Amino acid sequence: MDTILEPFIKDLNTLTTHGINVNISGHQRNFKGGLMCFLADNLASNLLGGFKESFSFSHRFCRTCMVKTTSYKDKFLSSDFCQRTAEIHKRQCDELDAAEGDLKDHYSKTYGINRRSKLMCAKNFSMFDGGLPHDAMHDILEGVAQLEVKLLVKHCVNEKYITVAEYNHRTENFDYGKNEMDRPGIITRELLGSNDKKFHLSAAQTLLLCQIIPLIMGDCVPEGDEHWQCFLLLLKIFDIVFSPVVPKGYCAVLKLLIAEHHSLFKSLHSSSMITPKFHFLVHYPDQIVALGPMTRYWTMRHEAKLSLFKKASHLGNFKNIAYTLASRHQRWMCYQLASDNMLQSCFECGPGSSPSTIGQQPHQLGSIIQRAIPSISNDATVFHPKWVKKNSINYCNNNCYVIIGTDGTDPLFGHLIDVYVVGGDLLLLHVYHCQTIYFDDHFHSYVISDTTNMSIVCLQDLLSPFVLHGHKLFDGRSETYITMKHLIFS
Ligand SMILES: [Zn+2]
Repeated sequence: MDTILEPFIKDLNTLTTHGINVNISGHQRNFKGGLMCFLADNLASNLLGGFKESFSFSHRFCRTCMVKTTSYKDKFLSSDFCQRTAEIHKRQCDELDAAEGDLKDHYSKTYGINRRSKLMCAKNFSMFDGGLPHDAMHDILEGVAQLEVKLLVKHCVNEKYITVAEYNHRTENFDYGKNEMDRPGIITRELLGSNDKKFHLSAAQTLLLCQIIPLIMGDCVPEGDEHWQCFLLLLKIFDIVFSPVVPKGYCAVLKLLIAEHHSLFKSLHSSSMITPKFHFLVHYPDQIVALGPMTRYWTMRHEAKLSLFKKASHLGNFKNIAYTLASRHQRWMCYQLASDNMLQSCFECGPGSSPSTIGQQPHQLGSIIQRAIPSISNDATVFHPKWVKKNSINYCNNNCYVIIGTDGTDPLFGHLIDVYVVGGDLLLLHVYHCQTIYFDDHFHSYVISDTTNMSIVCLQDLLSPFVLHGHKLFDGRSETYITMKHLIFS
């Protein structure tokens, strides 16, 4: 690894100290840059940083703190652990380098360090202030959530709240809408009964299943069930961790939620169920303070990129797989550059009526559009398609809701009736205003009702570009429930 890192660190240090000169419109400009953090999964991060890669053959497995393998199941606050620092780490590496034989093994296991990493030579970079961040996709989705959602379903089946057949029926017949492509599949009794700690879902499937499971089976679970309460705590952690904006004050809330969740989880299950990934969550609040909201640097995007290589590797030619993948990736890049739309937002319209001007619209609609955008001219073209897809989000009138504002505490939703494209690229959404009645803790969702007030909102004025779906519960009650993807901070 250090052989690979060496030229990278050398170039990086040149960029940090001397920078590169770029000619911009006849002016010579000097740009400098540096490494902020290195994004990877836990094993790769530990490998890069020179830490032990195996969690079971070390007394200390965390690259952020000095937690022992004997104590991470008992304490759930980052302040309970001594943090690793550049100074402490350098001293430990010195001791490791000076030792030989059994003593070297002893230091290596005691400190959880394999070697002095080349990353330590990168200027203005520290591995310990968020330099090797913990990743929400691998820790919380593929680790904690997969395990907990499996244990929750198992508990509900054992307590006879729901049968496996009913769970599968509801999962298959849930109204996912047009925006949720990574749908969770059905389960079997064998999968529930196995010792495997996973549900064998992708990270995106796990995220979706956790968000919708209150709507799928919440009506079957009695209020106050402790396993359900524990899962609701996990969803509250999701709300902050997956938000693209996190006010600093919420990091303290997150700290308490994680400690409360882990303590309750431990009291409900044997402590052998608590894995090192549970521990990594205790560092999330400090990491958000250091680096910002976690979805800004999680590895979900890297996994999406990886899927390109996974598809290419399924072609069956393994004579020189590295060459095959490199070649196909270059061809893909060539296509993207030649098609000239690599960095442009994707905008796609469905079928609709012939474009007309603002002046030709029915009076009420024309005046609503002009009220929404006073500067718009009467000659601007208006196209009324059945649906619009922008940045992979589908806006249509199929039970879709958008967040048009807040009342200071709760979000205000708009029920999408129509979409209009004005002037070729401005997306306007025609919505009925909804009344946010209350937040139902048990279903972790807002209960809303439509009103007769309507208005037109510009897409860029929404508090979140996401389209949410209104749901009826399977028990037949009449209220409409909306589950958020994360907290909204205006
Ligand atoms: Zn730690």
